[in-house]
Order: sequence, then C-alpha cells, then structure tokens
Amino acid sequence: MADVIVVGAGPAGSTTARHIASHGLEVLVLDKREEIGRPVQCGELLASREEVLQIFPRSRGLDELDTVPLENVQRRFERLRILTPKGREYLIPFTGFTVNRDDLDKHWVSLAEKAGAEIRTGVVVEGLSGSEVITDQGRYNAKVIVGADGPTSIVATSANLKTPSSLSPALTCQVEGNFEPVAEMHFGSLAPGGYAWIIPKKKSANVGLGVWDRARSNGVRALFNDFITRRGFAPHSIAGGLVPMSGPVAKTVSKNVLIVGDAAGHVIPTNGGGVNVALICGRIAGECIAANLLRNEPLQRYEERWRAVVGHPLTIGLKTKRLADKFFGSDRRLELAMRIMGKKGMGRAIRCKRIFRG
Ligand SMILES: Cc1cc2nc3c(=O)[nH]c(=O)nc-3n(C[C@H](O)[C@H](O)[C@H](O)COP(=O)(O)OP(=O)(O)OC[C@H]3O[C@@H](n4cnc5c(N)ncnc54)[C@H](O)[C@@H]3O)c2cc1C
Repeated sequence: MADVIVVGAGPAGSTTARHIASHGLEVLVLDKREEIGRPVQCGELLASREEVLQIFPRSRGLDELDTVPLENVQRRFERLRILTPKGREYLIPFTGFTVNRDDLDKHWVSLAEKAGAEIRTGVVVEGLSGSEVITDQGRYNAKVIVGADGPTSIVATSANLKTPSSLSPALTCQVEGNFEPVAEMHFGSLAPGGYAWIIPKKKSANVGLGVWDRARSNGVRALFNDFITRRGFAPHSIAGGLVPMSGPVAKTVSKNVLIVGDAAGHVIPTNGGGVNVALICGRIAGECIAANLLRNEPLQRYEERWRAVVGHPLTIGLKTKRLADKFFGSDRRLELAMRIMGKKGMGRAIRCKRIFRG
C-alpha cells in the first residue's frame, strides 16, 4: 500500500506529490495521458510572482512560481490590452510571462520525481472503492487519495464530492509570427460570457477563446474559427478544454480523499487562470497530507488552510463574474459596463478585488 495516490499529473497533482514525497512518504502519481502536459489545453499565460501576491496576499511564502526555470519563460509582458465589443482599448498594467505549458508540466513532474514520487502515465483511473483506486490496469491501495484530475474529476464524484458546477468550454491553438509583448483579451459577442485571447510567445502566439457554459450549443468551435479567420491566422495544435468558472466547491475533503486544482474549482473566475492557484493549493494539500500521515493532524486542515489563503479573493472574483454575466448577453450593455468600470475597475476585477472600492 502506498502512503498516497495522486490522480493527475498537472500542476496541482505534481505539486501536491512533491510536497508529500519531500517528507519521505511513498507517493504514486497516476495520469491517463501518455505524455505529461500534452495536448496543451491552456493559454500559457502566468501572472508574475508580484501579481500573484497582489491577488493572494496570504500566499506569501507559498510561491511555487519560484520553481519556473528561466528557460521555460517564453515572453515577459507588463500590460494587458483589453478590447471592448466596439474595439475600444484599455491598457492595464499587469506583469506576467508566457510558457510552453507542456514543458512546464514536465518540469513540475520532474521536481516531484526528484523528491521521490513515482509517476505512471497512460493509466486511466475509473473510480474509487474505499482506499482502493480502480484503474484500467488494476487496483492500487493508499492511505490517502488525491483528486487532481481536472474539472470533471472522477475522484471527486467517486468520493461523493461535488465538482465545479459551471464549466466553460475553451479552445486554444498556436500561431506562428512575431507579436507585440502585450497579452490581448477581446470581449463581446465574439466570445459570449468569456473572452478571446492573443498571448505572445517567442516567435508565435497562443490564440484562443472561452465562452460561458450555456453557449456550448452555440458552437465554441464556430466562434473560434471566426476569430482565427478574421485575423488571417494559420492555426496548429488546436485543443479544447473546460474551465471551472463557478469558484471553489463547497467541500474538498471526504474521509481519506481530498481534491485540489481544477477538480476543486481552484480557478480565478474573472479570467479563468488556474495554474497559480493549483500550485498554491497543491502545496497546501501536500503539507497537510504529510502532517496527517506523520503527526496524525486531521486532513480537514487542508480545507481550512486553502480557504484562508485563496478563498476570499476567489469569492470576490466569483461575485464580479456573476455581475459581468448580466452584461455579457448584449454588446451594447457590455460596452457601457466596461466604460463605466474603466481601466482601474478592469485592473481590480482581474486581480479579484472589488471593482469600485479602494
Ligand atoms: C483552453 C484553456 C486555457 C487556459 N489558459 C490558462 C492560462 O493561460 N493561464 C492559467 O493560469 N490557466 C489557464 N487555464 C486553466 C488551467 O489550465 C487549469 O486551471 C490548470 O491546468 C489546473 O491544473 P490541474 O493540475 O488542476 O489540472 P490539469 O492541468 O487539467 O491536470 C489534470 C490531469 O489529470 C489527468 N486526468 C484526468 N482524468 C484522469 C483519470 N480519470 N485518470 C488519470 N488521470 C486523469 C489529466 O490527464 C491531466 O494531466 C486554461 C484552461 C483551458 C481549458
């Protein structure tokens, strides 16, 4: 029996595994993908450490972004260009960088391996039965089981935990060319309930769009094709995914099972960014599991700790997203709302602060 089985080797799973294995505990990570990080289902934009601390001030000292090697950074930028439905531009100061997400996922997995975790790829988890993890390749036993298996987590549903209630479909691709070092976000009926993005990399860009969950039937693919064609882009490496936009789920621990990352709704509802939150909560999960197995501290401490660090900003972000949803249905209303918010309000919304305070 392993001490811990982590299902999912994305940023949440590998970070959780690393922080358990570093205590000398036995950790097995299972992922259904044959190759870690592929396909890339991400805009590949990460907020800088300074921005993460602005958004989650209580994450000080938990900053996993320090583990991004310089060679993984594709492009740094200092501003976001936000475009309204009518094309009015707002340049918002915001520092961040872009990455090749597949390389970065591999890097984070390698850190978990170096700490002593064992990684098995190409293993599909089908469900849980008590302390058993049922896979397409047999059953594994563990004292603690972690669901870091993304927004439709099979671990969560098998443990009677709820998964995020709102999942926004999104498509992404790579486009070759030279792009300005500014990340663009386009709002309006071109991406109802979400936005389209052009995110610069070294000699390419990550281009994509996400829409609200109710727009699924309207065809996210058609909107994506339209956005790409209008700009004359020749896309490759097209991939889709679901982004949890309903904030954290109500409960993330059940007996010997806990969930983290997208599985737990650890995503910023105003922009869909989840990598940093997954890293922060993954570390907390790892530390709490180690404390449980080594010092018998309750696993429930995990729930308290991640809420203390990211709970409040994510709640504010969710309120802002719900307010924005009231305007997303009409370009005219959205244009007006964005003008009223202005540059300052948009900057605050992106950072999960109340729009009209402070
Ligand atoms: C199109 C798109 C663009 C995005 N852009 C950004 C961005 O620019 N910046 C940002 O910060 N966030 C972005 N996000 C969100 C971000 O990608 C996620 O929040 C982040 O990946 C969450 O990490 P995770 O480890 O929880 O889940 P994931 O990275 O999804 O990892 C889950 C892992 O679990 C594995 N798995 C799933 N089910 C099983 C199973 N049954 N058995 C075994 N293994 C399983 C999967 O193979 C996967 O490797 C984007 C999301 C999408 C869909």
